[in-house]
Amino acid sequence: MGSLSASYFERAQEVIPGGVNSPVRAFKSVGGSPLFIQSAKGAYLKDVDGKEYIDLIGSWGPMLFGQAHPTIENAVREALSNGFSFGAPSYNEVLIAEKIVSMIPSIEKVRLVNSGTEATMAAIRLARAYTKRDKIIKFEGCYHGHGDSFLIAAGSGVATLGTPDSPGVTVSTAKDTLTAIYNDLSSLRNLFEANPTDISAVILEPVVGNMGLVIPEPGFIEGIQQICKSYGSLLIFDEVMTGFRLSSSGYQGLTDIQPDLTTLGKIIGGGLPVGAYGGKAEIMNMIAPSGPVYQAGTLSGNPLATTAGLAMLNLITDNPEVYPTLNQKGEYLAAGIRQQLMDLKIDGFVNQIGSMFTLFFTNIAVKNFSDAKTSDTAKFGVYFREMLNQGVYLPPSQFESWFLSAALDQSHLDH
Ligand code: PLP
Repeated sequence: MGSLSASYFERAQEVIPGGVNSPVRAFKSVGGSPLFIQSAKGAYLKDVDGKEYIDLIGSWGPMLFGQAHPTIENAVREALSNGFSFGAPSYNEVLIAEKIVSMIPSIEKVRLVNSGTEATMAAIRLARAYTKRDKIIKFEGCYHGHGDSFLIAAGSGVATLGTPDSPGVTVSTAKDTLTAIYNDLSSLRNLFEANPTDISAVILEPVVGNMGLVIPEPGFIEGIQQICKSYGSLLIFDEVMTGFRLSSSGYQGLTDIQPDLTTLGKIIGGGLPVGAYGGKAEIMNMIAPSGPVYQAGTLSGNPLATTAGLAMLNLITDNPEVYPTLNQKGEYLAAGIRQQLMDLKIDGFVNQIGSMFTLFFTNIAVKNFSDAKTSDTAKFGVYFREMLNQGVYLPPSQFESWFLSAALDQSHLDH
């Protein structure tokens, strides 16, 4: 390597515990160095060494129209030239709140925060205050942000389905087992029967992006909602990843389900830090000043970030063709990769919904990073590094099985 990227990687180890943050951590385990990006435009990234990559990471996160979209860039430039202020409420906070309420029918009122983690933590706090109950049910493999461990370790009696603090899975056939855990209503019922008056809320990623894209079976989430209702518990959708990705109102836009609370992040900030949580007015009205829950943040709803977010949401509503096109291309891509797997006799499978897809390699099964057999790592590393050599940048993940996940965005469709 001997590159600037490699040098940043080494320096990061010195000053950042664990090195640079999560998606890139996995690079090390496959014998590579992460990329350090110098510039980005549309579907392309250029690293500090001048190599260009097609970007399949950005749209797994906050991008829907590519990097540095001119509409978002211009909106932010204008906010900057107005000397974006701190101290007074930003009118953009009002505009973006109105926009969110208009886009997501289950959200009657919304609060702005700075990240998906904050949104989720705040929604859980609110659920506890509203129901006057402590316990939260969380699914194994669903990731709700870096506050997950506080959620579990808070000592307030958290009920769980699966191992709460695990980012991954506990058994080797990832696809079948994850799908089984995720679609198992009877375990959920048992938890409720054991704690009939203690469970404040069930929180879930409606499509589990964080365990390799587990897509709920028909009726599963409706079943959860029924159980929640019958026990007086709330249903919280963590749509930080799926919100504005699967439709202009997230996963819930594909169904008739209206969760009590929804958490949002990623795309909602157009690349800058914005998170939000919202839901029924009756629940949201618990928040100060009229209610018992206090929530405010020094930088929440700040003018610069909400400007970028509002520009992103306007782009979405101004482009009604965006989701049908992405869905169509997502299906096309998944079918193409499936065919390639067959032609090349590689054991694997593809999960896909809309523009989100994950490619699993099923002949590589390890329990966790430290257990990874050299041969497994090497095998996955070959696939992964070849993609990088070919100039394709997408996140490697490894729980029980190795997988590569990505999402398409509008900027990829021009290529
Ligand atoms: N919830 C889900 C479903 C996520 O995918 C993430 C981030 O990956 C979060 C919450 C946390 O969001 P953030 O990283 O903005 O804190």
